[in-house]
Amino acid sequence: MISPFIANLPKAELHMHLEGSLEPETLIKLAARNGIRLPYADAEAVQCAYQFDNLKSFLDLFYLGLTVLQKGSDFYEMTAAYFARAVRENVRHAEVFISPQAHLRRGIPIAVVIENVLAAIDDARARHGMTGGLIVGIQRQFDESDALAMIQLVKPWRDRIIGLGMGGPELDNPPSKFARAYDIARCDCGWHTMAHAGEEGGADYVRDALHTLKCERIDHGVRCEGDPDLMRELAERGVPLTVCPMSNCMLKVFPDMASHNIRRLHEAGLRITVNSDDPPYFGGYINENYAAIQTELGMSDGDLWQMARNSFTSAFISDDLRNRYLQDIERHRPSGLNQHGTFPIAG
Ligand SMILES: [Zn+2]
Repeated sequence: MISPFIANLPKAELHMHLEGSLEPETLIKLAARNGIRLPYADAEAVQCAYQFDNLKSFLDLFYLGLTVLQKGSDFYEMTAAYFARAVRENVRHAEVFISPQAHLRRGIPIAVVIENVLAAIDDARARHGMTGGLIVGIQRQFDESDALAMIQLVKPWRDRIIGLGMGGPELDNPPSKFARAYDIARCDCGWHTMAHAGEEGGADYVRDALHTLKCERIDHGVRCEGDPDLMRELAERGVPLTVCPMSNCMLKVFPDMASHNIRRLHEAGLRITVNSDDPPYFGGYINENYAAIQTELGMSDGDLWQMARNSFTSAFISDDLRNRYLQDIERHRPSGLNQHGTFPIAG
């Protein structure tokens, strides 16, 4: 159940994988259109397959699903569909990931991927007034040379790409494996940087992403809790964590939502944002993630408002645009919430 407060709350989504936004119906439709054989009879069978034991069991289906993307129009439609859905959830700004290596390995030319995704992001602004940014993600299971080659290929669009990220199976693939790729991203391409770390990997992976890769944001990062010094550093520096509660539960990072640590991280003063990761795979878009933590963890409207505000302060946007969004969310501040984001304690 999505409360009116959550539904109306302006928000930015900073952790969402375009290939993971394909709805089961779209997977079946594109497979038929492109002559791709999937091991599912229909959309219902796709839905039934979404039972995961861990990150790897999800990634196997994620990589299978994205094989239906063949033509430029497929990439355009996928992106346009996500933005059209997100705007209905009052997402005002979205920074979305694409995994170019997965498409290059299937022989899809890089221009087909990037041009069509960017065109759909541009059109979302014209059509819905919603802003967006594209992040290219390294697949960490491949070696460094593969990542460096991908970066070279996308460089012609470097001014239209906002950042470099990293996804894929985390264990045994520490962030430091890609230190050179992140140097190139920062110094040669002028990109912002972030990495998935501390989802299945431990706090040491978060530390590695922060110190070796010099990441500005950490995707997931929930296992930072294992290292109190790191927690303090994240809080003091205001490093954003893009947390995806429903994803974490579906992939057994936590056994259930009541056990999730997002409330503790938020109350420890970390800059937490709420995101959907791969919404159809994990059973909910961004508003359902906000609703789940409120229902299961008792987080107040004030907490949710603060995290939505964090999503704008953590976005890679101009100061002008940020100020506009901050003015907008100010109008949704729950009554009684003071300027420090806390409710005054009675008595
Ligand atoms: Zn992710």
